[in-house]
Amino acid sequence: MVPSVISSEKFCQCNCPVCLTDRHEPECHVKGFSIVRCTNCKMVYVNPRLNDVVIREIYRKNYFIKKDYSFNDFGYGNYDLTAHLRDKTFNRWYAAFAPFLMTHRGKAMDVGCATGRFLNILKNKGWEANGIELDVDRYNALLAKKFRVKNIPIEDYDRNEQYELITLFDVIEHITHLDACFKKLNLMLSDKGSIVMVTPNIESFQKKLFGKKWFQFKPWEHISYFSPKTVHRLAERFGFKIIYLSECGQYADMSFVHHRLLRYGFNRTATLLKMFLSMPGIKDKAWYVGTGSMLIVMQKKSL
Ligand SMILES: [Zn+2]
Repeated sequence: MVPSVISSEKFCQCNCPVCLTDRHEPECHVKGFSIVRCTNCKMVYVNPRLNDVVIREIYRKNYFIKKDYSFNDFGYGNYDLTAHLRDKTFNRWYAAFAPFLMTHRGKAMDVGCATGRFLNILKNKGWEANGIELDVDRYNALLAKKFRVKNIPIEDYDRNEQYELITLFDVIEHITHLDACFKKLNLMLSDKGSIVMVTPNIESFQKKLFGKKWFQFKPWEHISYFSPKTVHRLAERFGFKIIYLSECGQYADMSFVHHRLLRYGFNRTATLLKMFLSMPGIKDKAWYVGTGSMLIVMQKKSL
């Protein structure tokens, strides 16, 4: 659990992760963390943020399943409970980005592959599915299922192989060293390859509506908040061009909506909704809802 008071030596000051300058102005404070806006490129990021040692520990164990999960916790209470919704979401995202890929066969790498739901989808679509997962238990479970996975940060990825598809779903907002990450992505991407990312959009309608209560504000783990402009700028700097960018969301059922209502403090509405949950036919229904995220497809610029 994220402690309510964290000692100062667990924090570090950072420059803008997109343009690397150190000039910034306050944006807001969320749960004791300071969120700033770069005065040069307008990138929004957490500064100071938790240091690398603390952040590495967050992802290493119990990230996907934990007892006594609270809204201020990192990671998930039980990731597997919503696996069926994730499969629907991943299939929908795939259908959205597939027309922009230069090839539909070859090596694929899913960075932050969690329990391997998207690796399964990739395999079924004919890709050679590879993954990176930092959570040791999830990594071991994937190995036991014979998946090709590594348990190291993307920056340290050491296989001398290139990929036709690299996916980073809800990952880049967590990355502590975007420079090293994007340099590595450039080396790992084949000339016919595409990178597909999903990340929260700081300029989304949802962010404007909910302000500091926007559920994507989890400053202990979401340390970078991109907009279409800043993600373009980052892509440019590392030799990529963005060929597709659109809003995206995820499938949600009534339990998910109930959870979000509680998160936003709508307790009475949540109680009413809970009564509907017991009605036949409602419990298993799912809808695609906007989450204030964007789906981005990038390719190498020289092509
Ligand atoms: Zn900047």
